[in-house]
Amino acid sequence: MADPLSADAFLAALKGEGARVVEYDGWRTRNRNHKGKWGPVNGVMVHHTVTRGTDATVKLCVDGHGDLPGPLCHAVIAKDGTVHVIGYGRANHAGLGDPGVLDAVIAEGPLPKVDEASKDGNRHFYGFECENLGDGKDPWPAAQVDAVVRVCAALCRAHGWGTTGMTSVIGHSEWQPGKIDPKGPGISMDSFRKSVAARLSAPPTFTVRAGDTLGWIAEAYGTSVDELRHLNPDIKDPDKLAVGQTVKLPS
Ligand SMILES: [Zn+2]
Repeated sequence: MADPLSADAFLAALKGEGARVVEYDGWRTRNRNHKGKWGPVNGVMVHHTVTRGTDATVKLCVDGHGDLPGPLCHAVIAKDGTVHVIGYGRANHAGLGDPGVLDAVIAEGPLPKVDEASKDGNRHFYGFECENLGDGKDPWPAAQVDAVVRVCAALCRAHGWGTTGMTSVIGHSEWQPGKIDPKGPGISMDSFRKSVAARLSAPPTFTVRAGDTLGWIAEAYGTSVDELRHLNPDIKDPDKLAVGQTVKLPS
């Protein structure tokens, strides 16, 4: 179960979890596979970028900087919750980390205190960079938090991770000594993990946001408008959904 997903399956998993995905040109083949191994993959790592502005953040993660060439992640999660997929394969996001942490991630057991930087994390983790200044004050809007939870749940679901301990999802700070990300008011890796676990254990539903239609939801979840209407007889007009409304999905 630890072979990396294909690019198509990765994209389908994110969309299927209801993430609003924007595909950046050439993302499928933008990687660092020529520099080292990619996979087996064992978990998902969450970061913040220390940047402001979505365009600049996406560009930085595509190009990299100084002696850290891009891609710097697989996708950037913007403040508005859009998920900009920029690369696929080995990416420069995790660096060297604690082998004991990787063991715990694989076992889905409790995470040990991070005190070593000797294991190649770029090989073993999917990486998401969240647009945030990382100063502890810059807010993480609800839409961005929701997107983090969706993409992490998507990959856990696709790989069958997180059924026991939920330590398949970690922060950079839990991997490499000296890192502080992700950081910000109202967020923590424990709360992200709790939300991902709740999402994975709940019966499948979709919470409507502004602009969503039954057609879009059907496409994202690989089902049909007819099937969704059958499951949700209370929906009269498939083009007029209320924001916050819950739509039952086929299991
Ligand atoms: Zn980081």
